[in-house]
Amino acid sequence: MDRKTRRQTDIAQGLHYIDPETGSVIPPVVTSTTFARDDQYQLIGGHRSYSRDHNPTYDLAEQMLCRLEGGHEALLFSSGMAAAAAVFQSLKPGDHVVYPKVMYWGLRGWLLEFAERWGLDIEPFDATDPDDLERKVVRGKTRLVWIETPCNPTWDVIDIEAAATLAHDAGAELAVDSTVATPVLTRPIDWGADIVMHSATKYLNGHGDVLAGALVVKEDSQLWRDVKTHRAETGAIPGSLDAWLLQRGMRTLFLRVTNASASAMAIAKHLEGHPALTSIAYPGLESHPGHGVAAKQMHGGFSGMLSLLIDGDERDALRFVSRCQVFIRATSLGGVESLVEHRYSIEGPDSPIPKNLVRLSVGAEHVDDLIADLEQALG
Ligand SMILES: *Cc1c(COP(=O)(O)O)cnc(C)c1O
Repeated sequence: MDRKTRRQTDIAQGLHYIDPETGSVIPPVVTSTTFARDDQYQLIGGHRSYSRDHNPTYDLAEQMLCRLEGGHEALLFSSGMAAAAAVFQSLKPGDHVVYPKVMYWGLRGWLLEFAERWGLDIEPFDATDPDDLERKVVRGKTRLVWIETPCNPTWDVIDIEAAATLAHDAGAELAVDSTVATPVLTRPIDWGADIVMHSATKYLNGHGDVLAGALVVKEDSQLWRDVKTHRAETGAIPGSLDAWLLQRGMRTLFLRVTNASASAMAIAKHLEGHPALTSIAYPGLESHPGHGVAAKQMHGGFSGMLSLLIDGDERDALRFVSRCQVFIRATSLGGVESLVEHRYSIEGPDSPIPKNLVRLSVGAEHVDDLIADLEQALG
């Protein structure tokens, strides 16, 4: 192709997909689990024989992810957790892993248990202390640095470029959970990351109807080959209909993320200094401690995720949540419906999350309706 078009253009068109046989501009869903051989006993469709390791419906979604992240290769998984787990399960007992204290709680909980059984040597770092990562990464010992930015649900921002330099100087690889930033706002590989992980359940699909995950790699490596073998052998893959829905959802990714980021910014600015709040956690606000780094590595917005710290205790936070009428009380994020959640109630007594924190996922509704709802609920 001699045209050089922008990512938004390529993604909206599913990489200019046109079916060579039918002219269809939307790819088919291939549901077959097995693939036939010709009379010479050669596979008719190339290398595929059975769908535990791959399905032709993944091809377009994986190619779109490569285009979005500027990566060498992408793999779909059955969930974000399965994608992340594939990376950790490809490490060896004794490998040293550094990870942030505050991160997606499901992954943190799983990692703590898995590391004990598997014998991984895991070490948390404090993302709010700019020198702590350097203290925890050990040259010649650390194998993997795992980060998440912005960190769910406090939205602390981690400098990907600095983390990549620290990891690489120590001989380690850097993996980034970029679910919240999305490839629209941040491309971790451009800042030196080796592997990018997404819960595709969130913004990538964007419509609350698919559970899926993805990994994108900068270049081939032993770790990546082990991840690929892991997926092929365990079948941690989405169904073909889910993979198809994902390529459909991704076509509007730029519109959805740009709109949600603009609305989240408007909400944060509107509510900043509100007497019923002690603070707002949103990297787009200049008052946020991570704003400088966020402004460097995020382009076109600061995501649709923010948290409100209610001036009060757990009961006051729950009262606020119960008064919301437009925001829907539900977990998850990155869909077109705005959601509100009291994280501490969900995470339980081991949670490091403040009891007065309420998390908002801003969707595609009119921003004035969202602001009015929050105003009346705070009122
Ligand atoms: C939801 C989420 C995950 C887990 O993804 P699933 O698709 O639910 O398994 C991981 N990281 C972040 C930041 C998430 O929001």
